[in-house]
Amino acid sequence: MTQIQLPVRPTFLPFAKPDVDQREIDAVSEVIASGWLTTGPKTREFEATFAARVGAKHAIAVNSATAAMHLALEAAGLQAGDEVITTTMTFAATAEVVRYFNAKPVLVDIDPLTFNIDVNQIEAAITPRTKAIIPVHVGGQAADLDAVQQIADLHGLIVIEDAAHALPTEYKGRMVGSISDFTAFSFYATKTLATGEGGMITTDNDEWADRCRVMSLHGISKDAWKRYTSEGNWYYEIVAPGFKYNLTDVAAAMGLVQLSKLEQMNTRRQEIARRYDAAFGPHPALEPPAISPDSTHPYHLYILRLNLDALTIDRNEFINHLRTANIGVSVHWIPLHMHPYYRETYGYRPEDYPVAFAEYQRIISLPIYSSMSDQDVNDVIAAVTQIADHFHA
Ligand SMILES: *Cc1c(COP(=O)(O)O)cnc(C)c1O
Repeated sequence: MTQIQLPVRPTFLPFAKPDVDQREIDAVSEVIASGWLTTGPKTREFEATFAARVGAKHAIAVNSATAAMHLALEAAGLQAGDEVITTTMTFAATAEVVRYFNAKPVLVDIDPLTFNIDVNQIEAAITPRTKAIIPVHVGGQAADLDAVQQIADLHGLIVIEDAAHALPTEYKGRMVGSISDFTAFSFYATKTLATGEGGMITTDNDEWADRCRVMSLHGISKDAWKRYTSEGNWYYEIVAPGFKYNLTDVAAAMGLVQLSKLEQMNTRRQEIARRYDAAFGPHPALEPPAISPDSTHPYHLYILRLNLDALTIDRNEFINHLRTANIGVSVHWIPLHMHPYYRETYGYRPEDYPVAFAEYQRIISLPIYSSMSDQDVNDVIAAVTQIADHFHA
């Protein structure tokens, strides 16, 4: 690697970091002191507050977005041999949950601007076995949900949003979480609301909500936590072989505090995004993320695109120089169809999804989180622009 003169931060800037203060610590301490650690009153309060925040009738807390999508597909009645349409530009979880059923994830290419599912390619992927569509809101900016719903209605398909990045997101004035059959949220440590591990399913359908709740805790037919309180009793029934996906009250207590900080954290990420846009927009080698007119952007990710024709180095070398400058970055994502499992199982070649394949080679996710200081932001801007200037073609 060619050495260049870069300002090197004295300390490493992590790619992501949760925004936690004394309030989360106090809330978690209180739960620990209460003696009730697992699913209980805090989880119920978190579900109710979350449902109100996104405008959903039901919110079911679980221990990951992966669990949320698994339960949604189960409630939707997915069977072995069925097909579920999603995109290749997503995290492992989105397609893996389909494989849990021995069903087939059918991948579609992405829109080159938003990196969300190319809705014009969905219909061609539909077969008589298609059961559901899982649009992924890349970085948090909503996919074209009206178009997805229109196709789903036409073909009798269920829509499950992978909204792991989309909190808070408004699509055409409606909150993500209140729009489709199911929405799955993630509270993984790096997400815009963090509880370490955690997730939420929202739906307006009473029957599906019941099924998700029952299956989230061993297929037991009533709220198991009530079994151990004075209002409950010892009797319960197992109605199906369920899963162990419930959220703990420890995590829910943290989630409630994080929910109360959601606006404030979002505002800070907007500020950082505006500063990045202003710094990178004018540079011929750099392209800020595209903004959809239909959706707000919560900037869980800030995916910078390199104009490789204007650079003498590739994306990997660009990342190596950022590392040297002590700045942590990531890539979202290596498209699913390029991973060994999907390649070998379904025989994909990289060029089968030309847009995802091309975009993958020029993307870098920059640090963007509310606990970043102005100096942190300045350091990222300085390093990115100086690398781009130095290796300008
Ligand atoms: C993080 C993420 C998930 C998985 O979330 P977990 O809560 O860790 O299960 C799913 N989809 C996308 C797009 C993600 O980024």
